[in-house]
Amino acid sequence: MLREFSQFGRWLVTALIVLALGVPAAVTAAEPALDLTAAEKAWLAEHPSIRLAVDIDWAPFEYIDARRNYVGMAAEYISLVEQRLGIEFEVEKEKTWSQAVEAMKQRELDMYSCVVSTVQRREYVDFTRPYLSFPMVIVTSDQVAYVNGVRDLRGEQVAVVEGYATQDLMEKNHPEIELYLARNVADALEQVSHGKVYAYIGNIATVSHVIKREGLTNIKISGETPYNYELSMAVRNDWPEFVPILQKALDSISEQQRDQIYRNWISLRYEHGFDYELFWQILGAVLLVLVTVVAWNRRLSSEIDKRIDAERLAQDAHQRLETANRKLVDYVDIVDRHVITSSTDKWGRITSASSAFREISGYSERELIGRSHSIVRHEDMPAALYRDMWQALTRGGSWEGEIKNRKKNGDYYWVQTYISPVFGDDGEITGYTAIREDITAKKLAEELSITDELTGMYNRRHFNELFPRELARAQRERRILGLMIMDVDYFKAYNDNYGHQHGDEALRNVAQTIRDHLRRAGDFAFRIGGEEFAVVVNSDDPADIGRAAENLRRAVEDAGFEHAYSNIAEHITVSIGLVRHDGRAATAGHELLFRRADDALYEAKRRGRNCVVEHDRLVEMKLAGES
Ligand code: GH3
Ligand code: MG
Ligand code: MG
Repeated sequence: MLREFSQFGRWLVTALIVLALGVPAAVTAAEPALDLTAAEKAWLAEHPSIRLAVDIDWAPFEYIDARRNYVGMAAEYISLVEQRLGIEFEVEKEKTWSQAVEAMKQRELDMYSCVVSTVQRREYVDFTRPYLSFPMVIVTSDQVAYVNGVRDLRGEQVAVVEGYATQDLMEKNHPEIELYLARNVADALEQVSHGKVYAYIGNIATVSHVIKREGLTNIKISGETPYNYELSMAVRNDWPEFVPILQKALDSISEQQRDQIYRNWISLRYEHGFDYELFWQILGAVLLVLVTVVAWNRRLSSEIDKRIDAERLAQDAHQRLETANRKLVDYVDIVDRHVITSSTDKWGRITSASSAFREISGYSERELIGRSHSIVRHEDMPAALYRDMWQALTRGGSWEGEIKNRKKNGDYYWVQTYISPVFGDDGEITGYTAIREDITAKKLAEELSITDELTGMYNRRHFNELFPRELARAQRERRILGLMIMDVDYFKAYNDNYGHQHGDEALRNVAQTIRDHLRRAGDFAFRIGGEEFAVVVNSDDPADIGRAAENLRRAVEDAGFEHAYSNIAEHITVSIGLVRHDGRAATAGHELLFRRADDALYEAKRRGRNCVVEHDRLVEMKLAGES
């Protein structure tokens, strides 16, 4: 009841203001001078013809009347702008609204006279500040007493005009309300009038105009929404100079002129459906308590101001949210296309995989979903890496590292991978999410820089880097590290007799034999010189390393690569110098160890070749004594 009274009170107050201002407004015509800059004046001079996109059938905002005049509230603003700027707009009077919109997009027209600022439109036009603003109201049958906001419409069917901003607004903010999409305002109000739908939501200006025009007597405005309908002028956005000029012209329009335009088109709305006699009776009664009303009005108007501010804030926030959501959608799309991501359940079964993931792996979504993530596992990756990874993840930590994966077609790709657990509300792990960066190209370049071209083994450069690192690790982890240096026996004679090309072939064979006889992932082989190789092995068992060296020596001999010019055998043989470093017992520099292994090799050659000599203190003393 209080609400009803306050609304009615507002109408009355407005009516009183209209009455009070009506006379002075008619005589006030003083116009403040526009202060345009020289550049702005020059711009206007350069653009003598500005083509205006208008809605030819949108009373009371704008329309083309029977005498083909452009009329309506916007038309009055446009005419004031023309006066202020000393220009004339070319009004496009033939096109339907959708044709006018198309022409604006094609830059065949230059400016909208009266439009709502939307995200889509902001892509091709710049807006002035709104110059017309109307509350969005709820229209129902006059049998309905009062609708207390949009929430009261829950469960009812509500009409909006299809394609109007209200449709968007209602779908986004009130998805629980069932919408009837009307062709136009007249259609929507007709549905309300015939009881086919419960209510219509639209701006108060159009509503009052159409109610009057269609002579609909059994419907009324029964409530308000928190939304405002705000209209601006908008200029093709390759004409940014024109917007501030227009804004100056709009700003120069006085409050009285605005009121005048408003009343020319809207003032009758309060009278509609009113019993005039009753109106004056009530007015008389109100005059009796005028003092009370004025006091009350002061308070009310400050509340209204507050609410208008709040509404504006809400609308701003809504717009920002809409933009943010659009950005988010774009962002998600970019991520899907460019980032190799996947999620699994807590057992490692794939629950989603991005397009980028599907593209690089060669698997379709159907082939991935529900399968274990090990579908892309490459056999080159040591099992220990996956063990460590799962250990970290199941403890709730994240894991990061480089992984070589297998494609569906058997090729491989390298990814820098970041995996983290996903937690449920109860704090338990529900699954895992991984994002990956394709580092295949980087890995290939890296591999090339550490690979010996002739044999495909690691090269000397990598040995120089890896051996000190492995040594430090052995000392840290208190393990035993073995270094072998291996040299082909009588290889000069091989080259001289079989030719350099056969020599290369023989080196490749020896390299392959060594590779075939390495035992674990922690063993590395290198070609460190012409016909010299190095092998680094890790072990916990001291005897194991000596055995490994002997195995390699025998493997080369047993391979039986012909060498008719060797002084000691019919086949290619190698001599091996070995040094063992016990990380549990002592520390040593890598250079010293290398020199010891080399000394041991020298000793192996001296002892007749095709043998392994291990450097130990005895050997050292012996070498020292002999030299
Ligand atoms: P030793 O048993 O004492 O090691 O005798 P050796 O003939 O192997 O002696 P040395 O180390 O002096 O000779 C190495 C020879 O290996 C020299 C060269 O003919 C050959 N060689 C070195 N690098 C290459 C290579 O890249 N390709 C080929 N085909 N031959 C190479
Ligand atoms: Mg040599
Ligand atoms: Mg040699």
